[in-house]
Amino acid sequence: MKTIVTVVGARPQFIKVAPVSRALRKTGRVREILVHTGQHFDTNMSDVFFAELDIAKPDYLLEVNGGGHGAMTGGMLQKLEPLLQELKPDVVLVYGDTNSTLAGALAAAKLHVPVAHVEAGLRSFNRAMPEEVNRIIADHLAITLFSTTDVSTQNLMREGVSMDKIHQVGDVMLDAALLFAERAKSQSTMLDQLGLRTGEFVLATIHRAENTDNNENLTALVDGLEAVASQMPVVLPLHPRTRNALAHAGKAFDAVKTVEPLGYLDMLALESQAAVIATDSGGVQKEAFFYEVPCIVLREETEWVELIELGWNRLAPPCSGDIAGAITEAIGRRGQPAQPYGDGNAAGRIAEILASNAHSTW
Ligand code: UDP
Repeated sequence: MKTIVTVVGARPQFIKVAPVSRALRKTGRVREILVHTGQHFDTNMSDVFFAELDIAKPDYLLEVNGGGHGAMTGGMLQKLEPLLQELKPDVVLVYGDTNSTLAGALAAAKLHVPVAHVEAGLRSFNRAMPEEVNRIIADHLAITLFSTTDVSTQNLMREGVSMDKIHQVGDVMLDAALLFAERAKSQSTMLDQLGLRTGEFVLATIHRAENTDNNENLTALVDGLEAVASQMPVVLPLHPRTRNALAHAGKAFDAVKTVEPLGYLDMLALESQAAVIATDSGGVQKEAFFYEVPCIVLREETEWVELIELGWNRLAPPCSGDIAGAITEAIGRRGQPAQPYGDGNAAGRIAEILASNAHSTW
């Protein structure tokens, strides 16, 4: 039996863990120990995903949250190091690009424990983003890199990562969306609860620091979404960071329907029925594509460049000053058909590679 310690802490990581943990269990050759750093801790940013997505309860809760990047990452490192020394895993598995990813990868690498990174090779080429720094470091500490697309594999090769470390497996977010599509359809009543009709509303999410912590961007987003909401319903599940930023800046939405962060099933239900999705989220950009819903990316650049090239998604940075125009113009737009994210079995491939000794340097 191989022991894998999975380190997660933030909403998108819980969603990515769901199909992978399930696939690891299925191999029967791996014992997975789940460590939750505590980065996201509210019921609707954490617990709901464990309850809805059949993820085992975390084996360890580190309860590190809040503070600046240094305090948070340092707090996690301090708790992870003795834990990994005690657990002596064969591999530490990390996901994506949060402070939990960075801390997990760094703590393991310093203890000479092999690191595996899911969603490797993603790049925005904007180092002002904390996520970009986290993902670059995690990739260069990892000895097993699970890339999602041709573009992410090429990014890694360009940075000198040797091909024998890279496994292009597809995107586990596609696996999750397929795995839970039926449940979302049959269980979610969110459309009715919000009085929305299929194809007649815009779904928006905002949480990137470059938008929440920049007054001009935040103002442009509030004004732009309010302008759209005067013509058609706009729903915005409010990330805690955005809620705080709005309060701090003394701004509020009025016509836009703001709701608490949603569970994954409700989120999938809204995404699949929206006319347009406007978002600065990485995951939501792709989920829009999975449901063939046109998407406006509220940023200056994106990691998911293939969706721009295929014509499904378009960039509309807040500083462009025409968020509302970009959103209304997107209604009914379609891109080219393609499958850049694999076949929905990325998790199965990851589990097989981790369970076997398919890695060259173990
Ligand atoms: N999500 C959710 N409820 C919400 C907003 C997002 O379940 O209210 C899901 C969404 O469907 C996607 C993931 O959270 O699977 C994306 O996470 P987030 O936007 O926080 O992070 P990012 O993808 O930008 O790293």
